[in-house]
Amino acid sequence: MEYKTIMCDVLVVGAGGAGCRAAIEAAKHNLDVIMISKELLGKAHTAMAEGGYNVSLGNVDPDDNPETHFKDTIVGGNYLNNQHLAEILVRDAPQRIFDLEDMGAVFDRTPEGKIAQRPFGKQSWRRTAYASDRTGSEIMVTLTEAIRKTSVRVFDEVFATKLLVTDGKIAGICAVDLKYGDYLIFRAKSVVMATGGAGRIYKVTSNAQLDVGDGYGMAYEAGCEMIDMEMVQFHPTGMVKPESAKGRLVTEAVRGEGGILLNSEGERFMKRYYPDVMELAGRDQVARSIMTEVLEGRGSPDGGAYLSIAHLPKRIVEFRLESMIEQFEDAGVDIREEPMQVSPTAHHFMGGLKIDENASTNIPGLFASGECTGGVHGGNRLGGNALADTQVFGALSGETAAKYAKENRHLGIDRDAAIKEFERLEAMLQRKDGVSPADARDELTALMWSKVQIFRKEEDMAEAVKELRRIEKEVVPQIKVDVPVKRFNPGWHQAMEFVHMVTTARMVAEAALMRKGNRGAHYRVDADPDETGYYNIVIRKGKDGEMELTKEDLVITKITPP
Ligand SMILES: Cc1cc2nc3c(=O)[nH]c(=O)nc-3n(C[C@H](O)[C@H](O)[C@H](O)COP(=O)(O)OP(=O)(O)OC[C@H]3O[C@@H](n4cnc5c(N)ncnc54)[C@H](O)[C@@H]3O)c2cc1C
Repeated sequence: MEYKTIMCDVLVVGAGGAGCRAAIEAAKHNLDVIMISKELLGKAHTAMAEGGYNVSLGNVDPDDNPETHFKDTIVGGNYLNNQHLAEILVRDAPQRIFDLEDMGAVFDRTPEGKIAQRPFGKQSWRRTAYASDRTGSEIMVTLTEAIRKTSVRVFDEVFATKLLVTDGKIAGICAVDLKYGDYLIFRAKSVVMATGGAGRIYKVTSNAQLDVGDGYGMAYEAGCEMIDMEMVQFHPTGMVKPESAKGRLVTEAVRGEGGILLNSEGERFMKRYYPDVMELAGRDQVARSIMTEVLEGRGSPDGGAYLSIAHLPKRIVEFRLESMIEQFEDAGVDIREEPMQVSPTAHHFMGGLKIDENASTNIPGLFASGECTGGVHGGNRLGGNALADTQVFGALSGETAAKYAKENRHLGIDRDAAIKEFERLEAMLQRKDGVSPADARDELTALMWSKVQIFRKEEDMAEAVKELRRIEKEVVPQIKVDVPVKRFNPGWHQAMEFVHMVTTARMVAEAALMRKGNRGAHYRVDADPDETGYYNIVIRKGKDGEMELTKEDLVITKITPP
C-alpha cells in the first residue's frame, strides 16, 4: 500500500469561515501550517451564508451590548449552551468583525458610515451586520485573499478520512488526494477540526453538498466526546419548488426586513402562535408553526406556507435581498410582486465536538471550531451567531493549536492503523458486489427525514436507531463504487462520506431517543411533561466499541435556567 507522508506543525481540516480564520491565526506564530479541504479554496459552505453576522456594536440600536447578546444567545439556546463559550462568542465578536474589515471585507453601512445592523429572530436589538444577503460570500472572499498573503500551505480537494491518535494524543490524519487518488498521511503536532455541519444526512436541507458530517464521524471514532447531537435546527424557510431547489435557504433576512407568513386562507398565522414576536420568533418555533399549518390542512399547494415581502418598497427588496430576487426568478416567482412558498429545511447542527474555553477537545492536540463543534449555541442557534462563531472560535482554535504545537513534538504514527484505513478505502473500489453509495445515501437521508425530524416521537426514533445500527453493520461494509477509478471519482467520494454519515445520523438518533422532554430544536409529540431537560447529552465511543451516551450537568456561569 503506497502513501505519501507530509509533515507540518498545525493541520487545519476544513477551509470554511472557521478553518480559514484558524489557519490565519496559527500562521502568525511562524509555524508550518497546512489547511486542507474537500473542495477548492473559497468554495466552502460558509460562502452560502446570507443574512449576516451577530455583533453587539450598537450602531443602529445604541443600547445593545455584549451582555444582552449573551442573554439572547442563552435564552435562544434554551439554556443548554456552555455559558463560558457563549461569553467568549459575544465578547470577541466585535474584534473579529473588525479583523475582517482590516482584511478588506465590506459590510453595508448606516447613513453615518458605521456597519449597518438588521433585526434577526429572537434578538433584543438590531444586531446582525451584513453585506446585502451575501454576507458569507463577502467573508469567504476576504479570508481566502488573506490566506494567500500568509505562509499557509493549502491542499484543496483533499479528503481527510481518519484521525490518527498515538498514546491518546493527536498525531495526524489519513487522507486522499481527490485529484490524483493518492493516499496521504499528514503528520502534525496539533490538528484543528473545522469541518462544518451535516445537514446532508437529511433528504431536505439548505446545506452544501459536502456537509455530510465527516468531522463528526472521524472525531467520534478517534475517541472525541460529542455533545448535544440531537439538536438539529430546521430552518423554517426553505424553498419548496422546483424539486431541484427543494430545501434551498430563504434567508431569515426576508423576515428581518419585514416579510410576513400567510397560510392558504390568507391568514397571518404567526399571531396565533407567537403574537408578541410574530415572524421573528425562534427558528424552531416558526418551523413548528408552519408545519402545524400544513398538517392541519392550511398549507400552500406544494406543502408549505406563503412568505410575502410584496408590501415593502421595491427598492428596499432590490437593495437588501438581491440574491433572493435571483433565487426566486429561477423558480418563476418575482418576490417584489408575489409571495414565495416556503417550508422547513434541515439547516444547522448545534451539537458536535465538545470543546472547552481553549477550543480544545478531550484529545490532547485536537482543537475544533465552527459548526462542527457543540456547546456554543445550546439547543438552538440564533440566526447570525454562526458566522460570528466561525470567526471567534476559528481565531481562538488557531491560536491555541499553535501554542500547543510550539510546546509539543510530532508523535509517531500508528502505521498499521493508517494502512488498514487505506485498505478499507481501496476495498470500496475493488469489491465485486455490493451496495451503491448513492442508493445507500438515499435510504439514509429519507430515513432521517421521516423519523428524526421536526416533530419527533419515540417509536419513530427507536425505529431509526434500529435501522441505522443495521445499516452500520450490514450496508457500510458492503459499499461498492461502480467505477474503480481513483482520480477524481465522485462515486468513491460519496462512498468515503457514507460511513461518516451513518455514524453522524446514529449519534443524532440515539441522543434524540434519550432526550424524553422538549428542549430547543428537539421537539417530541409524546414528550414527558415532567422533564425539564436541563442537561447536555455527551456521546463517546466506549472501550467495547459501543456508542455510550451520558447526561451531563450544564456549564453555567451567569444565567440559571428557570
Ligand atoms: C444557506 C445557508 C445560509 C446561512 N446563512 C447564515 C447567516 O446569514 N448567518 C449565520 O450566522 N450563519 C448562517 N448559516 C450557517 C453558517 O453558514 C455555517 O454555520 C458556517 O458557515 C459554518 O462554517 P464552518 O467554517 O464551520 O464550516 P463550512 O463552511 O461548512 O466549511 C467546512 C469545511 O470543512 C471541509 N471538510 C469537511 N469534511 C472534510 C474532510 N473529510 N476532509 C477535508 N475537508 C473537509 C469542507 O470541505 C469545508 O472546507 C447559513 C447556513 C446555510 C446553509
